[in-house]
Amino acid sequence: MAKALVIGNWKMNLDYVEAVHLTQQVAALLASRPAERVDVALAPPFVDLRSVTSVLEAERSLVTVAAQHVSDRDNGAFTGEVSVAMLKRLGITWVIVGHSERRTMYHMDDASVADTLKAVLRGGLNAVLCVGEDLATREAENHESFVNHQLVSALSGVEEFAERVTVAYEPIWAIGTGVTATTGQVDAMMAAMRLQLASLGFSSSRVLYGGSVNADNAAEIVTEAGVDGFLVGGASLKAESFGAIIHACDDCYAERR
Ligand code: PEP
Repeated sequence: MAKALVIGNWKMNLDYVEAVHLTQQVAALLASRPAERVDVALAPPFVDLRSVTSVLEAERSLVTVAAQHVSDRDNGAFTGEVSVAMLKRLGITWVIVGHSERRTMYHMDDASVADTLKAVLRGGLNAVLCVGEDLATREAENHESFVNHQLVSALSGVEEFAERVTVAYEPIWAIGTGVTATTGQVDAMMAAMRLQLASLGFSSSRVLYGGSVNADNAAEIVTEAGVDGFLVGGASLKAESFGAIIHACDDCYAERR
């Protein structure tokens, strides 16, 4: 059975006490109303990872854990960095690679995204590769070629790991702005990306949408735009809205059967 994937990106929010609390709430919500057709993951800040995995283990929850970023190096003198092996040891399943906030605020260029993706996949973890254009690129109608270029640049040379690659289309102008891409815009981009992914050997990869997804718009997007799930920022910080997004995907996938 094909499953949707919903990942909550907490960004730099919630200390470990708050993280424990929200994790317990999400686990309880999914225990009381399971979402069998959805894989769910939480992406807390590094310092919360251990607490979050411990809570999920204690609750025997199927929710998995993602890191928001990782170093492309194995170990050594890289102050402030965290390696793939360190994440693996903590029981982390996913790593978000090349989020637009890393690309724009921390100067992560295409080469560094590609190196990080390689490190994640060679290290045995699953990757969520983020791509997406800024507003000027969208207005110039260059969004498809821009995103295709990001895909080629990141995915060339890692075809053997295709099974462990998920891609998230996150137009920068929709992230944290309250402006969601229309279902038509998302649908068109999904079609273009799937073509490009197939030509690169990634036809099995799930393609998510991210950008101001919330409890009110999730059902429409997942039903009308042919996405395989969501990468959720702001709305993942409350169990209620995150749960509503997960259940919107579950309901949609039940209909697709
Ligand atoms: C994100 O940062 O990945 C994201 C999609 O954020 P938001 O849902 O808040 O737009």
